[in-house]
Amino acid sequence: MIKIKTKEEIELMRESALIVSKTLGELAKEIKPGITTLQLDKIAEESIRDQGAIPGFLGLYDFPNTLCMSPNEQVVHGIPNNTPLVEGDIISIDCGALKNGFYGDHAYTFAVGEIAPETEQLLKITKESLYVGIRAFKANNRVGDVGFAIQNYCESHGYGVVRELVGHGLGSKMHEDPEMPNYGRRGRGKKFVEGMVVAIEPMINMGTQRIRQHKDGWTITTLDNKPSAHFEHDVALVDGKPELLSTFAYIYDALGITSHEEDEFRKAPLTL
Ligand code: MG
Ligand code: MG
Repeated sequence: MIKIKTKEEIELMRESALIVSKTLGELAKEIKPGITTLQLDKIAEESIRDQGAIPGFLGLYDFPNTLCMSPNEQVVHGIPNNTPLVEGDIISIDCGALKNGFYGDHAYTFAVGEIAPETEQLLKITKESLYVGIRAFKANNRVGDVGFAIQNYCESHGYGVVRELVGHGLGSKMHEDPEMPNYGRRGRGKKFVEGMVVAIEPMINMGTQRIRQHKDGWTITTLDNKPSAHFEHDVALVDGKPELLSTFAYIYDALGITSHEEDEFRKAPLTL
């Protein structure tokens, strides 16, 4: 059952989403060759707690850390460890926060120093597919419209769209109805309704769409060990249109990047 949020609840969810956004911005400043994913995990936990929230993933389904840290061929759900990042890596960071009874949940794939051009292209297209999907999250559309948009965009670039892992409704639970696959058929699935909040999160592989789970019960990697990217935003349906609750602006601020990709999904410019 889809849980519709009131205007007040959406504002609380915006607060939780922005706590994650700010935390990702803090991490962006620290990501460089030599730092370990466990060090980054500590920075994230501190940032979330300093903002009066609780790490959303820590203990959720018994996950052991604050961040899901998935380098290179890992798709999602990687566990932070003591291995230093090296130049040329990519690292997908998924972060959750709980405040006022509502979750924020969003993700970004970072480059560590200089990366290969074909990997750069994977990140670019995956992030673009996130916005292609968000654009389809509007009144009278259905779950399949978002999935189709993402799948079509990514497959047209020759990439593999992971089937086993999907986006989701978001609220007082991390995973609410509906499931939001990154593949689908136009006009199929549940209809979008005003006041819905969803996490849209393409997980896109450079090669095969197929994945495997590690013995640790968490880590998911591509079957061909080629790189995978993951970008995620929290989005509310307001006045029939998608409105971003989360933002990559803190990341871009840290990295010195100018971007207008989020402008169409905001009523007013965001002040950092
Ligand atoms: Mg997430
Ligand atoms: Mg999610």
